[in-house]
Amino acid sequence: MTDFFNQFTRRKFILTAGASAGAVFLKGCLGNPPASITGNSVQAQPAVQPVANLTPEQRPETTTVKLGYIPIVEAAPLIIAKEKGFFAKYGMTNVNLSKQASWGSARDNIEIGSAGGGIDGGQWQMPMPHLISEGLITKGNQKIPMYVLCQLITHGNGIAIANKHLGKNISLQLAGAKSLFTQLKSSTPFTAAFTFPHVNQDLWIRYWLAAGGLDPDADVKLLTVPAAQTVANMKTGTMDAFSTGDPWPNRLVKDKIGYMAALTAEIWKNHPEEYFAMKADWVDKNPKATKAILKGIMAAQQWLDNFDNRKEAAQILAGRNYFNLPAEVLIEPFQGKYDMGDGRKIDDKSMAAYYWKDGKGSVSYPYKSHDLWFIVENVRWGFLPKEYLTNAKALIDKVNREDIWKEAAKEAGIAAADIPTSTSRGVEEFFDGVKFDPEKPEEYLRSLKIKKVSV
Ligand code: CA
Repeated sequence: MTDFFNQFTRRKFILTAGASAGAVFLKGCLGNPPASITGNSVQAQPAVQPVANLTPEQRPETTTVKLGYIPIVEAAPLIIAKEKGFFAKYGMTNVNLSKQASWGSARDNIEIGSAGGGIDGGQWQMPMPHLISEGLITKGNQKIPMYVLCQLITHGNGIAIANKHLGKNISLQLAGAKSLFTQLKSSTPFTAAFTFPHVNQDLWIRYWLAAGGLDPDADVKLLTVPAAQTVANMKTGTMDAFSTGDPWPNRLVKDKIGYMAALTAEIWKNHPEEYFAMKADWVDKNPKATKAILKGIMAAQQWLDNFDNRKEAAQILAGRNYFNLPAEVLIEPFQGKYDMGDGRKIDDKSMAAYYWKDGKGSVSYPYKSHDLWFIVENVRWGFLPKEYLTNAKALIDKVNREDIWKEAAKEAGIAAADIPTSTSRGVEEFFDGVKFDPEKPEEYLRSLKIKKVSV
């Protein structure tokens, strides 16, 4: 949005009694529908939201920021906040969204920051912000403090299996497939991939395998492979499974390459998925702009959770400048409809991706108890030393800035009922009946049969 237009709309909204009256005026002014067809996808015109009445205390220090994203549904709140004008509404008129080639590139780009041609923040698997802050996955182990500011999404991920294994009982429950894994182990082990080690996708596939009595470090071969490469390998028969997010599951099934053994919504209903996090120095320097970005994301998350908006959301995300694929592959999963590809069909809105609220309450609010699960799971598999069980609290208190989320939510006028009062979501339960009590992480680890750590 140009400065001129911004000023124009601001003046208009001062003149009109309410935001909705202004929105009607602008819709007529811009023409309707505000979209143009290019190729097989619809490119939305930036929508104009009524500019929020920003007090001097809320006016951002800068209107410019560069945020990274990976083209999967987790990125939707960032893309929608930009395309539907929610960032601009709060004064962030120059948000540059930068598609990242891989999670490794996102990590490299946060190291250098936007001043060096990288990014100031963006979308992350967990606990990447904590690992980067600790210097555990950075070049030369340089510590780059980061702040986790909100959760972007729940659900929308799953475990894909190559079609050559159809009918061999590889599903959510693995009891019927154990002999197959044992048999493969002696020749060519069952090979499964994720897109970055020690984070969500690695952890989902490990949890699922271990719950089924398989040791992910001994009974299968796990490796890091970019999503597109994994699909190619699955086609040629060298990849048996991978842990992935929408739109990949639907594409695999539609192209008859693979099927879905399980959705993460089945492994852990209303689970924490990906997060929005920024470099701490950027946030410390620009606290008002950080809250403006958060308010834009929150508005986008609420817009996305209105299922009537999801067809439009799919069309925006599918656009050439974002995911560059036919919108159809996103429309059904967005409604909780999954053709699992093995004859199983899910049609259940509670299994869909949620951005703002789910069956357990807030999705957007970054619960510290969820950061803890990701760190405990890293200890479970020996990725982090056991001392992290003791150190986790201090690390999370440093990285997780739920206090900034709350301030932004209050400034945005979010109802008190939608602002959690505890930093813990309490006891979590997985599909195999295992419980994670954030007050007793060691007890959780002791309850798990397959693990690398001794507790
Ligand atoms: Ca994911």
